[in-house]
Amino acid sequence: MENLLGWIDEEREQLANAGLLFTIRTIESPMDAWVTIDGRQLLNFCANNYLGLANHPRLREAAKAAIDRYGIGPGAVRVIAGTMGLHLELEQQLAAFKQAEACITFQSGFMANLAVVPALVGRGDVIFSDELNHASIIDASRLSRAEIVRYAHNDIADLRQKIADTQSYRRRLIITDGVFSMDGDIALLPAIVEVAEEHGILVMVDDAHGEGVLGKGGRGIVDHFDLHGRVHVEVGTLSKAFGVVGGLVAGDRRIIEWLRQRARPFLFSSAMTVPDVAACLEATKILQESTALVDKLWHNANVLKAALVRMGFNIGLSETPIIPLMLGEAPLAQQFSRRLFDEGLFAAPIGFPTVAMGKARIRVMNSASHSQSDLEQALDIFDRVGRDLKVIG
Ligand SMILES: *Cc1c(COP(=O)(O)O)cnc(C)c1O
Repeated sequence: MENLLGWIDEEREQLANAGLLFTIRTIESPMDAWVTIDGRQLLNFCANNYLGLANHPRLREAAKAAIDRYGIGPGAVRVIAGTMGLHLELEQQLAAFKQAEACITFQSGFMANLAVVPALVGRGDVIFSDELNHASIIDASRLSRAEIVRYAHNDIADLRQKIADTQSYRRRLIITDGVFSMDGDIALLPAIVEVAEEHGILVMVDDAHGEGVLGKGGRGIVDHFDLHGRVHVEVGTLSKAFGVVGGLVAGDRRIIEWLRQRARPFLFSSAMTVPDVAACLEATKILQESTALVDKLWHNANVLKAALVRMGFNIGLSETPIIPLMLGEAPLAQQFSRRLFDEGLFAAPIGFPTVAMGKARIRVMNSASHSQSDLEQALDIFDRVGRDLKVIG
């Protein structure tokens, strides 16, 4: 054992020295605007729970009621015995919400990417992939065995060049994040769709951070840019703004039906559980009834951003509620996060490999459940810690 596993100690030590080991905090309360950690109540600016649905009374009730009626586990993969009426109802509601032809759900957003990419392209095909795409897109692309051609981040000229340089392929697919999860900038999707239409290339957008955030009432990036019917595949997650866990693929009906036959996580991994599906259905209903939560999220984000910029923080390129406080080196980001924690605010440091070396940051994630007073308390803490660590003047 000793000889075979010594490399773990060595590599772990290297990570520790570079300030790149995760400190994994344990949450002792529901996920909400405030959380309990180590017995202390902290302001929570760390989660992807954009709309505060993770602990919403209606989702809690819906999950309980569904358990009483249908139990918990599906007991099978979707194509054998794991498809319940609830799964189909959720898929229909999501398609209607997103004004898509059809929708299929998966166990997570990561699984949705692993499902869709290898089902659409394979050996002899090519994927054009934004260099900042999410890890699950990178893994899904590798799994597909298609050739992967990376283009510079959100750089349409470079995408065009890479397409021009890459001719002799069977099928071609462009994949981009919708909202880039670490910087909060938005893909130039209208321009990407234009290029794709000129060249006859399939387009896939992974809108994990745009689902429930962008577009009318959170209908996502395709709605945000009014590109209905022009994006072949829109991947989304039910684990972030929807407050539960799960993934979705919305888009062209033929693609969705093909995924029901060919997507490996649909064929070989068990279906979403009953409480998850029921809670997601309730979240979809809430979003269809009103844009209030989405409006509140954006209001909060705008308040925070304006104040942080006024204080002198560099918040990068963010166009969305994701607010990166750019700090540079990973140890500073770790120190900043620890100081915030001591002051009563939970916001995680993000370093390599999640972002490039030298681009470490604190990612500030507000939610619709933060009150004005929560925001003010948080801003006081950011100001104090920023000055103490000489990040701001
Ligand atoms: C978070 C995220 C995922 C993974 O979603 P899960 O539902 O948590 O598995 C996939 N893609 C992008 C772009 C993400 O930000």
